[in-house]
Amino acid sequence: MQYILETSCYPREHELLKQLREATVEKYQYWSIMNMPVDEGLLLSVLLKIMNAKKTLELGVFTGYSLLTTALALPADGKITAIDPDKEAYEVGLPFIQKAGVEHKIDFFHSDAFSVLKDLINNGKEEGSFDFAFVDADKKNYINYHELLVKLVKVGGIIAYDNTLWFGSVAEPEETVAETLRPDRNHVIKLNDFLAGDSRVELAFVSIGDGLTLCRRLASTETN
Ligand code: SAH
Ligand code: CA
Repeated sequence: MQYILETSCYPREHELLKQLREATVEKYQYWSIMNMPVDEGLLLSVLLKIMNAKKTLELGVFTGYSLLTTALALPADGKITAIDPDKEAYEVGLPFIQKAGVEHKIDFFHSDAFSVLKDLINNGKEEGSFDFAFVDADKKNYINYHELLVKLVKVGGIIAYDNTLWFGSVAEPEETVAETLRPDRNHVIKLNDFLAGDSRVELAFVSIGDGLTLCRRLASTETN
């Protein structure tokens, strides 16, 4: 793991992503672990580019490591709808996003994700219009977001769920898991079981970072 990071990831990390991460560590110390690790950022970037993603969603921004990664990967006319009720954290990363010259690709909603997704569906024009969604917000609602995201993301598009290993706790017996991890562990287990049986998507559970589950929306005529 250290080998991968040292040989192939740290040398490849964009200078402004590095600066954003450092500013996050300085302000949030321990909680800076919420920024995705470098290897996962590099995967996200490659994935967005091979998909030719142009229009994406991000649920759960924090200081914007994954958001800046996405903004750098999208074409100049790309658009990201980014949602987080924590504006203060977003503002910690914003100067780096501005310095990278990609702020124009971002629409930031200072809000809870569910209400923004509901509005997108209710306005009647956004269903099936997103290429990609990155879900990294409150774990207990992933399963609720999923119902809206399978409508908002186009057929062939990807919904990516982050932290689906929940520090590895999903694979451990409950008694051995720290009490603080248990509530979200149980939500994530339910999500993983649900997604494994969801015939609307093709699934790839990637063991990178804290677990990243990729769901590709299938056409109703397609089987997985
Ligand atoms: N994606 C970021 C890290 C996000 S951390 C990265 O990889 O760099 C999780 C974020 O989810 C926190 O900033 C938190 O404020 C946000 N969050 C919590 N509840 C939310 C909700 N209901 N809607 C949207 N975001 C939420
Ligand atoms: Ca995460």
